[in-house]
Amino acid sequence: MKTVGPVHLRDVLADFEKSPHVMAKRVARFRETMADKKARAGKIARQLAKSYAVAECALRHESPYQLLAATILSAQCTDQRVNLVTPALFQRYPTVQDLAEGQQADVEQIVRSTGFYRAKAANLIGMAQGIVTNHAGEFPRTIDELIQLPGVGRKTANVLLGTAFGIASGVVVDTHVKRITNLLGLTQSANAEQIERDLIELLPSKEWVNFSHRLIHHGRKICIARRPKCPDCPLLSLCPRVGLPPLEEV
Ligand code: SF4
Repeated sequence: MKTVGPVHLRDVLADFEKSPHVMAKRVARFRETMADKKARAGKIARQLAKSYAVAECALRHESPYQLLAATILSAQCTDQRVNLVTPALFQRYPTVQDLAEGQQADVEQIVRSTGFYRAKAANLIGMAQGIVTNHAGEFPRTIDELIQLPGVGRKTANVLLGTAFGIASGVVVDTHVKRITNLLGLTQSANAEQIERDLIELLPSKEWVNFSHRLIHHGRKICIARRPKCPDCPLLSLCPRVGLPPLEEV
């Protein structure tokens, strides 16, 4: 199976010198109109839906409480690692009320392997106390309320609203979504909030939740960081592969 190795600017420039016609075709993609780009984004969403029919959140959870706690733990940590840790966390603290009364040291010990465990333990307890104290134990359903909770930013709030409540409040932009949407030429930004704005403009709101889940699966299976499997990719005909060397030369 062919894979693409690390990309350096000098290689891209060398490719340009060797294959200006190929590069010109790819550069032309950048000049597509907004209508063209929207149409292409729609095709990408449909192809992703075919390739990843079940668009599930990779964090195992059975309730909004569990999903929010798992998402807080997923910062700078793999979902697999979080899934190894959360069963013990939810066994010790089955409800948000239990976690609100948790002791920092006890929570730290459980979440230690997810990294940044002191801050995460404090955020988990603070989030639970915020839910119990300010929302009577119910999870709020707006971004503005959710981002007041410790450890909850826009991305985490979007995950909870989209996945637990089916509310399309925005597009979840994690490291996979950030990388792949740039490769796909759907954005030219490294800033998560700008990428979210770009995707919101390109996709209808009904696509927002599943588009992210599917891109995250795609980033794990095919469009892997530093070694994307472009020849095997179902999005190849829709992807300008921004910043990667021409496939013909790989
Ligand atoms: S064609 Fe390559 S760069 Fe584009 S989405 Fe597929 S794997 Fe990623």
